Amino acid sequence: MIIITKPKLELSVQNKFRTFLADKKIDVVSVERKEQIHLVVVGRFGELAKRDVETHPAVEKIIETDRPYKLASKAFRQVTKFKLPNGTLIGNKKIVFMAGPCSVENRSQIEEIAKQVKDAGCQVLRGGAYKPRTGPYDFQGLGKIGLKFLRDAGDTYNLSVITEVLDIRDIELIEKYTDIFQIGTRNMQNYPLLRELGKSKKPVLLKRGMWATYKELLLAAEYILLGGNDNVMLCERGIRTHVAETRFTLDLNAVPYLKHETHLPVIVDPSHGTGRANLVRVMSRAAIAAGADGLLLEAHIDPRRSISDSDQAISLQELKKLVGEAKRIAKAVDRM
Ligand code: PEP
Ligand code: MN
Repeated sequence: MIIITKPKLELSVQNKFRTFLADKKIDVVSVERKEQIHLVVVGRFGELAKRDVETHPAVEKIIETDRPYKLASKAFRQVTKFKLPNGTLIGNKKIVFMAGPCSVENRSQIEEIAKQVKDAGCQVLRGGAYKPRTGPYDFQGLGKIGLKFLRDAGDTYNLSVITEVLDIRDIELIEKYTDIFQIGTRNMQNYPLLRELGKSKKPVLLKRGMWATYKELLLAAEYILLGGNDNVMLCERGIRTHVAETRFTLDLNAVPYLKHETHLPVIVDPSHGTGRANLVRVMSRAAIAAGADGLLLEAHIDPRRSISDSDQAISLQELKKLVGEAKRIAKAVDRM
Protein backbone atom coordinates (compact mmCIF):
# COMPACT_ATOMS: atom_id res chain seq x y z
CA MET A 1 0.00 0.00 0.00
CA ILE A 2 1.21 3.48 -0.83
CA ILE A 3 -0.33 6.58 0.70
CA ILE A 4 -0.03 9.67 -1.47
CA THR A 5 -0.47 12.88 0.46
CA LYS A 6 -1.89 16.06 -0.97
CA PRO A 7 0.78 18.31 -2.48
CA LYS A 8 2.56 21.04 -0.54
CA LEU A 9 1.35 20.00 2.90
CA GLU A 10 2.38 22.31 5.70
CA LEU A 11 4.78 20.79 8.18
CA SER A 12 2.25 20.97 11.02
CA VAL A 13 -0.32 19.06 8.89
CA GLN A 14 2.32 16.50 7.96
CA ASN A 15 3.23 15.99 11.59
CA LYS A 16 -0.41 15.64 12.63
CA PHE A 17 -0.92 13.03 9.93
CA ARG A 18 2.13 11.10 11.07
CA THR A 19 0.81 11.10 14.62
CA PHE A 20 -2.55 9.88 13.33
CA LEU A 21 -0.78 6.97 11.55
CA ALA A 22 1.30 6.16 14.60
CA ASP A 23 -1.85 6.11 16.78
CA LYS A 24 -3.39 3.62 14.39
CA LYS A 25 -0.16 1.57 14.49
CA ILE A 26 0.35 2.04 10.78
CA ASP A 27 4.04 1.71 10.14
CA VAL A 28 5.31 3.67 7.11
CA VAL A 29 8.50 4.50 5.25
CA SER A 30 8.32 7.91 3.65
CA VAL A 31 9.65 9.15 0.34
CA GLU A 32 9.86 12.84 -0.50
CA ARG A 33 8.96 13.23 -4.16
CA LYS A 34 8.62 16.57 -5.87
CA GLU A 35 6.02 18.40 -3.78
CA GLN A 36 4.31 15.34 -2.40
CA ILE A 37 5.11 12.75 0.20
CA HIS A 38 4.59 9.11 -0.60
CA LEU A 39 4.26 6.87 2.41
CA VAL A 40 4.87 3.21 1.81
CA VAL A 41 3.00 1.14 4.34
CA VAL A 42 5.01 -1.60 5.96
CA GLY A 43 3.05 -4.67 6.94
CA ARG A 44 -0.66 -5.36 6.83
CA PHE A 45 -3.37 -2.78 6.55
CA GLY A 46 -6.90 -3.58 7.72
CA GLU A 47 -10.07 -2.44 5.91
CA LEU A 48 -11.00 -0.15 8.79
CA ALA A 49 -7.63 1.55 8.92
CA LYS A 50 -7.74 1.90 5.16
CA ARG A 51 -11.03 3.78 5.27
CA ASP A 52 -9.74 6.12 7.97
CA VAL A 53 -6.60 6.90 5.99
CA GLU A 54 -8.45 7.33 2.70
CA THR A 55 -10.79 9.93 4.18
CA HIS A 56 -8.08 11.80 6.08
CA PRO A 57 -7.77 15.44 4.87
CA ALA A 58 -4.00 15.10 4.32
CA VAL A 59 -4.46 12.24 1.88
CA GLU A 60 -4.90 12.53 -1.87
CA LYS A 61 -5.20 8.83 -2.57
CA ILE A 62 -3.98 5.41 -1.65
CA ILE A 63 -2.62 2.83 -4.04
CA GLU A 64 -3.03 -0.83 -3.28
CA THR A 65 -0.67 -3.54 -4.43
CA ASP A 66 0.03 -7.03 -3.17
CA ARG A 67 3.60 -6.92 -4.50
CA PRO A 68 6.54 -6.72 -2.07
CA TYR A 69 8.04 -4.00 -4.28
CA LYS A 70 5.62 -1.10 -4.10
CA LEU A 71 7.17 1.87 -5.91
CA ALA A 72 8.50 -0.41 -8.66
CA SER A 73 5.08 -1.97 -9.22
CA LYS A 74 2.69 -1.29 -12.06
CA ALA A 75 0.06 -0.30 -9.51
CA PHE A 76 2.15 2.75 -8.63
CA ARG A 77 2.89 3.90 -12.16
CA GLN A 78 2.30 2.67 -15.70
CA VAL A 79 5.49 3.86 -17.36
CA THR A 80 8.73 5.59 -16.45
CA LYS A 81 10.17 7.96 -19.03
CA PHE A 82 13.07 10.32 -18.65
CA LYS A 83 15.39 12.39 -20.79
CA LEU A 84 19.18 12.23 -20.93
CA PRO A 85 21.22 15.44 -21.32
CA ASN A 86 21.63 14.89 -25.09
CA GLY A 87 17.87 14.72 -25.49
CA THR A 88 17.55 10.92 -25.65
CA LEU A 89 14.25 9.78 -24.21
CA ILE A 90 14.42 6.52 -22.24
CA GLY A 91 11.34 4.38 -21.71
CA ASN A 92 9.85 5.71 -24.89
CA LYS A 93 8.81 3.80 -28.00
CA LYS A 94 12.27 4.46 -29.36
CA ILE A 95 14.93 1.89 -28.53
CA VAL A 96 18.04 3.28 -26.82
CA PHE A 97 21.44 1.97 -27.89
CA MET A 98 24.31 2.24 -25.41
CA ALA A 99 27.65 1.01 -26.66
CA GLY A 100 31.36 1.31 -26.08
CA PRO A 101 34.29 -0.59 -24.64
CA CYS A 102 34.20 -2.68 -21.48
CA SER A 103 36.94 -0.41 -20.10
CA VAL A 104 38.15 3.05 -21.00
CA GLU A 105 41.78 2.27 -21.93
CA ASN A 106 43.18 5.62 -23.09
CA ARG A 107 42.01 8.89 -24.64
CA SER A 108 42.41 7.95 -28.29
CA GLN A 109 40.72 4.56 -27.81
CA ILE A 110 37.55 6.05 -26.31
CA GLU A 111 37.50 8.97 -28.75
CA GLU A 112 37.71 6.75 -31.81
CA ILE A 113 35.11 4.38 -30.39
CA ALA A 114 32.78 7.29 -29.52
CA LYS A 115 32.98 8.57 -33.10
CA GLN A 116 31.96 5.21 -34.49
CA VAL A 117 29.37 4.53 -31.78
CA LYS A 118 27.71 7.77 -32.85
CA ASP A 119 28.04 6.89 -36.51
CA ALA A 120 26.43 3.48 -35.84
CA GLY A 121 23.31 5.27 -34.54
CA CYS A 122 23.76 4.89 -30.78
CA GLN A 123 22.76 7.58 -28.27
CA VAL A 124 24.86 6.62 -25.23
CA LEU A 125 28.56 5.86 -24.81
CA ARG A 126 29.54 3.21 -22.26
CA GLY A 127 32.95 2.69 -20.71
CA GLY A 128 34.18 1.46 -17.35
CA ALA A 129 36.68 3.48 -15.34
CA TYR A 130 36.23 1.47 -12.14
CA LYS A 131 36.17 -2.21 -13.05
CA PRO A 132 34.90 -5.04 -10.84
CA ARG A 133 37.45 -7.62 -11.96
CA THR A 134 37.38 -11.21 -10.82
CA GLY A 135 41.05 -11.15 -9.86
CA PRO A 136 42.81 -8.34 -7.98
CA TYR A 137 45.78 -8.47 -10.39
CA ASP A 138 43.59 -7.82 -13.44
CA PHE A 139 43.31 -4.29 -14.87
CA GLN A 140 41.13 -2.35 -12.44
CA GLY A 141 40.29 0.61 -14.68
CA LEU A 142 41.83 4.06 -15.15
CA GLY A 143 39.80 5.68 -12.36
CA LYS A 144 39.34 9.46 -12.44
CA ILE A 145 41.29 10.07 -15.65
CA GLY A 146 39.18 7.40 -17.35
CA LEU A 147 36.04 9.26 -16.32
CA LYS A 148 37.43 12.42 -17.87
CA PHE A 149 38.32 10.68 -21.14
CA LEU A 150 34.83 9.17 -21.28
CA ARG A 151 33.13 12.52 -20.61
CA ASP A 152 35.21 14.34 -23.20
CA ALA A 153 34.56 11.69 -25.85
CA GLY A 154 30.83 11.77 -25.09
CA ASP A 155 30.73 15.56 -25.30
CA THR A 156 32.63 15.64 -28.58
CA TYR A 157 30.03 13.43 -30.28
CA ASN A 158 26.92 14.51 -28.34
CA LEU A 159 26.58 11.12 -26.70
CA SER A 160 25.34 10.78 -23.13
CA VAL A 161 27.60 8.55 -21.03
CA ILE A 162 27.19 5.63 -18.65
CA THR A 163 29.83 4.22 -16.31
CA GLU A 164 29.91 1.82 -13.39
CA VAL A 165 30.11 2.81 -9.74
CA LEU A 166 31.50 0.19 -7.37
CA ASP A 167 31.86 2.07 -4.14
CA ILE A 168 29.86 4.66 -2.19
CA ARG A 169 33.07 6.67 -1.76
CA ASP A 170 33.29 7.23 -5.54
CA ILE A 171 29.72 8.45 -6.10
CA GLU A 172 30.47 12.15 -5.73
CA LEU A 173 33.31 12.05 -8.25
CA ILE A 174 31.54 9.83 -10.78
CA GLU A 175 28.42 11.98 -10.56
CA LYS A 176 30.45 14.93 -11.89
CA TYR A 177 31.33 13.04 -15.06
CA THR A 178 28.55 10.61 -15.88
CA ASP A 179 24.96 10.93 -17.06
CA ILE A 180 23.95 7.44 -15.90
CA PHE A 181 25.29 5.36 -13.02
CA GLN A 182 25.70 1.67 -13.80
CA ILE A 183 25.40 -0.81 -10.95
CA GLY A 184 27.04 -4.06 -11.94
CA THR A 185 25.80 -7.57 -11.39
CA ARG A 186 28.11 -8.05 -8.41
CA ASN A 187 26.63 -5.06 -6.62
CA MET A 188 22.93 -5.60 -7.26
CA GLN A 189 22.42 -6.37 -3.60
CA ASN A 190 24.84 -3.80 -2.21
CA TYR A 191 22.05 -2.07 -0.31
CA PRO A 192 24.06 0.84 1.13
CA LEU A 193 25.21 1.68 -2.44
CA LEU A 194 21.63 1.43 -3.75
CA ARG A 195 20.32 3.69 -0.98
CA GLU A 196 23.01 6.27 -1.67
CA LEU A 197 22.18 6.36 -5.39
CA GLY A 198 18.56 6.87 -4.39
CA LYS A 199 19.63 10.34 -3.27
CA SER A 200 21.14 11.22 -6.65
CA LYS A 201 19.23 13.02 -9.39
CA LYS A 202 21.03 11.03 -12.09
CA PRO A 203 19.53 7.89 -13.66
CA VAL A 204 20.70 4.47 -12.53
CA LEU A 205 20.99 1.34 -14.64
CA LEU A 206 20.69 -1.58 -12.25
CA LYS A 207 22.06 -4.85 -13.56
CA ARG A 208 20.52 -8.09 -12.44
CA GLY A 209 22.69 -10.13 -10.11
CA MET A 210 23.95 -13.21 -11.95
CA TRP A 211 22.21 -15.31 -9.30
CA ALA A 212 19.18 -13.09 -8.68
CA THR A 213 15.49 -13.78 -9.16
CA TYR A 214 13.22 -11.16 -10.73
CA LYS A 215 11.76 -10.40 -7.32
CA GLU A 216 15.22 -9.76 -5.87
CA LEU A 217 16.03 -7.45 -8.78
CA LEU A 218 12.81 -5.50 -8.32
CA LEU A 219 13.36 -5.23 -4.57
CA ALA A 220 16.87 -3.94 -5.22
CA ALA A 221 15.37 -1.27 -7.52
CA GLU A 222 12.93 -0.42 -4.72
CA TYR A 223 15.88 0.66 -2.52
CA ILE A 224 16.83 3.29 -5.12
CA LEU A 225 13.25 4.43 -5.72
CA LEU A 226 12.67 4.79 -2.00
CA GLY A 227 15.45 7.37 -1.84
CA GLY A 228 13.48 9.57 -4.24
CA ASN A 229 15.34 8.77 -7.46
CA ASP A 230 12.66 7.87 -10.02
CA ASN A 231 14.96 7.25 -12.95
CA VAL A 232 15.91 3.61 -12.64
CA MET A 233 16.42 1.14 -15.50
CA LEU A 234 16.69 -2.60 -15.04
CA CYS A 235 19.20 -4.60 -17.03
CA GLU A 236 19.16 -8.30 -17.87
CA ARG A 237 22.80 -9.32 -18.36
CA GLY A 238 22.69 -13.09 -18.09
CA ILE A 239 22.65 -15.51 -15.20
CA ARG A 240 24.73 -18.46 -14.06
CA THR A 241 23.42 -21.80 -15.30
CA HIS A 242 24.97 -25.21 -15.99
CA VAL A 243 25.67 -24.15 -19.58
CA ALA A 244 29.44 -23.96 -19.94
CA GLU A 245 29.61 -23.00 -23.61
CA THR A 246 28.52 -19.42 -23.01
CA ARG A 247 29.81 -17.15 -20.27
CA PHE A 248 26.31 -16.61 -18.86
CA THR A 249 22.81 -17.52 -20.02
CA LEU A 250 20.92 -14.48 -21.32
CA ASP A 251 17.52 -14.91 -19.71
CA LEU A 252 15.14 -13.20 -22.12
CA ASN A 253 12.16 -14.41 -20.08
CA ALA A 254 13.12 -11.53 -17.83
CA VAL A 255 12.08 -8.95 -20.41
CA PRO A 256 8.35 -9.69 -20.76
CA TYR A 257 8.14 -10.71 -17.10
CA LEU A 258 9.62 -7.42 -15.89
CA LYS A 259 7.64 -5.35 -18.41
CA HIS A 260 4.50 -6.91 -16.98
CA GLU A 261 5.49 -6.28 -13.36
CA THR A 262 7.09 -2.87 -13.46
CA HIS A 263 6.99 0.54 -15.11
CA LEU A 264 10.80 0.73 -15.14
CA PRO A 265 12.54 0.54 -18.55
CA VAL A 266 14.20 -2.82 -19.26
CA ILE A 267 17.58 -2.91 -20.99
CA VAL A 268 19.36 -6.04 -22.24
CA ASP A 269 23.12 -6.60 -22.25
CA PRO A 270 23.78 -9.44 -24.71
CA SER A 271 27.55 -8.92 -24.44
CA HIS A 272 27.89 -10.19 -20.88
CA GLY A 273 24.79 -12.36 -21.39
CA THR A 274 26.55 -14.51 -23.95
CA GLY A 275 30.25 -13.70 -23.48
CA ARG A 276 30.75 -14.44 -27.17
CA ALA A 277 31.05 -11.77 -29.83
CA ASN A 278 29.50 -13.98 -32.52
CA LEU A 279 26.23 -14.32 -30.53
CA VAL A 280 25.73 -10.67 -29.65
CA ARG A 281 24.00 -9.47 -32.83
CA VAL A 282 21.44 -12.27 -32.95
CA MET A 283 20.64 -12.01 -29.25
CA SER A 284 20.23 -8.25 -29.67
CA ARG A 285 17.54 -8.91 -32.25
CA ALA A 286 15.89 -11.38 -29.89
CA ALA A 287 16.00 -8.87 -27.02
CA ILE A 288 14.21 -6.22 -29.07
CA ALA A 289 11.65 -8.76 -30.26
CA ALA A 290 11.06 -9.70 -26.60
CA GLY A 291 10.22 -6.08 -25.76
CA ALA A 292 13.45 -4.57 -24.43
CA ASP A 293 13.62 -0.77 -24.25
CA GLY A 294 17.29 -0.68 -25.09
CA LEU A 295 20.60 -2.50 -25.44
CA LEU A 296 23.91 -2.18 -23.63
CA LEU A 297 26.72 -3.40 -25.87
CA GLU A 298 30.46 -3.85 -25.66
CA ALA A 299 32.20 -2.71 -28.84
CA HIS A 300 35.86 -2.00 -29.48
CA ILE A 301 38.06 -0.66 -32.28
CA ASP A 302 40.21 -3.77 -31.98
CA PRO A 303 38.09 -6.34 -30.14
CA ARG A 304 40.79 -9.00 -29.71
CA ARG A 305 43.01 -6.42 -28.03
CA SER A 306 40.37 -5.19 -25.58
CA ILE A 307 41.99 -5.13 -22.12
CA SER A 308 38.89 -6.61 -20.52
CA ASP A 309 36.14 -8.88 -21.90
CA SER A 310 37.80 -9.29 -25.29
CA ASP A 311 35.86 -12.46 -26.17
CA GLN A 312 32.56 -10.63 -26.18
CA ALA A 313 33.60 -7.31 -27.72
CA ILE A 314 32.15 -6.74 -31.19
CA SER A 315 33.77 -4.58 -33.85
CA LEU A 316 32.33 -1.19 -34.72
CA GLN A 317 31.32 -2.49 -38.16
CA GLU A 318 29.39 -5.26 -36.44
CA LEU A 319 27.82 -2.68 -34.12
CA LYS A 320 26.56 -0.66 -37.07
CA LYS A 321 25.05 -3.75 -38.64
CA LEU A 322 23.50 -4.71 -35.30
CA VAL A 323 21.84 -1.31 -34.81
CA GLY A 324 20.41 -1.42 -38.33
CA GLU A 325 18.93 -4.87 -37.79
CA ALA A 326 17.65 -4.06 -34.32
CA LYS A 327 15.84 -1.01 -35.70
CA ARG A 328 14.13 -3.17 -38.30
CA ILE A 329 13.00 -5.59 -35.60
CA ALA A 330 11.88 -2.64 -33.50
CA LYS A 331 9.56 -1.49 -36.28
CA ALA A 332 8.13 -4.98 -36.61
CA VAL A 333 7.15 -4.96 -32.91
CA ASP A 334 5.69 -1.46 -33.05
CA ARG A 335 8.74 0.29 -31.64
CA MET A 336 11.18 2.72 -33.22
C1 PEP B 1 30.40 -4.30 -17.50
O1 PEP B 1 29.37 -3.77 -17.95
O2 PEP B 1 31.52 -4.18 -18.02
C2 PEP B 1 30.26 -5.23 -16.35
C3 PEP B 1 31.26 -5.44 -15.51
O3 PEP B 1 29.03 -5.79 -16.29
P1 PEP B 1 28.44 -6.88 -15.28
O4 PEP B 1 28.30 -6.17 -13.98
O5 PEP B 1 27.13 -7.24 -15.91
O6 PEP B 1 29.39 -8.04 -15.22
MN1 MN C 1 32.58 -5.91 -19.46
